[in-house]
Amino acid sequence: MTPFVAPEELARRVGRPSLLRLGANESAFGPSPRAIAAMRDAVGLTSWYGDPESIALRSALAQRHRCAVEEIVIASGIDELMGLIVRAFCGPGDACVATRGTYPTLFYHLNAYGARAEFAEPDASGGIVPEAIVDAVRRSGAKLVYVANPDNPSGTFADRATLAALREALPDDVLLFLDEAYADFVSRDELPPDVIDPRTIRTRTFSKAYGMAGARIGYALASAETIAVFQKLRLHFGVNRTAQIGALAALEDDAFLRGVVAEVARGRDEYRALAVRHGLFAPPSATNFVCIGIGTRDQAEAMVGVLLELGVFVRKPWAPPLDGFIRVTVGTPAERAAFAERFGEALDRVREKVAG
Ligand SMILES: *Cc1c(COP(=O)(O)O)cnc(C)c1O
Repeated sequence: MTPFVAPEELARRVGRPSLLRLGANESAFGPSPRAIAAMRDAVGLTSWYGDPESIALRSALAQRHRCAVEEIVIASGIDELMGLIVRAFCGPGDACVATRGTYPTLFYHLNAYGARAEFAEPDASGGIVPEAIVDAVRRSGAKLVYVANPDNPSGTFADRATLAALREALPDDVLLFLDEAYADFVSRDELPPDVIDPRTIRTRTFSKAYGMAGARIGYALASAETIAVFQKLRLHFGVNRTAQIGALAALEDDAFLRGVVAEVARGRDEYRALAVRHGLFAPPSATNFVCIGIGTRDQAEAMVGVLLELGVFVRKPWAPPLDGFIRVTVGTPAERAAFAERFGEALDRVREKVAG
């Protein structure tokens, strides 16, 4: 597996100053104006370290999730939390079960610590199959299970009953890591309830719906015992001060978040209608991106390449059943219109290539 090639690097490779940036599931709608104002005010005090305990932000999050401050840890994004989870719970040779094709960053951390991923097969949409996960745990003796929900790159979503059944089917000494990077795009009553279960770690981020990927800030919800382990391992001043202040302000702007979620839903509908116009299939998504079926794996790879030549950055899922799909992040209305135009052109070129 190759790590993600950044859009900045891709732009350099094709000799363009920038790309239509629809490949990393960043928000096209920016942070809340309140978060921007708070961060702008905070920049002057960049000379100060941030609160290493992030108490203001953790208190606000504790209120939101009806848990204790001791049940939350702040980190520089879920990607950092993944490293902490692997360091805390995986030794050399240990297995971690994940569904084939899911968000791969955890696997790099597992590799780095000599642990390994053990795959459960996905369903026909690329989503989780709880029985397959339980089987893989039994087969491998894994003590950690990773589930991204909603999932990236499939966009599938498992409801709270499915996740509760999965949790109950797993042995109590198996930790369930629920990566909820896209939870903000799903209504709260469909998500698992805010109850701290000592056998489960949930992670959230300000990178997606909140539009703050560049600030690098996210958090985990877990038992006080588990959080205490992360507190020991994490970098004491790893979360920058401005990001903490911005995240706190972002939490207070619910109207902005609701607006983003509604516009993203419109964007998903547009992409799916675009696919249909070209005779292609785009499955439903619970996230800020849509997968579009191009054809074979080679055709989908060609599509990513041709779109890049046309100045469009998208990515594609790496594993079946979605390896013949491309994954497109919802952009602004103008970005969506630009994408629709270049998508048609790219599709013609890919179909010519195959025909010729
Ligand atoms: C984007 C993404 C992340 C990374 O989140 P950060 O908080 O920016 O590190 C983690 N998990 C999934 C499933 C993602 O799509």
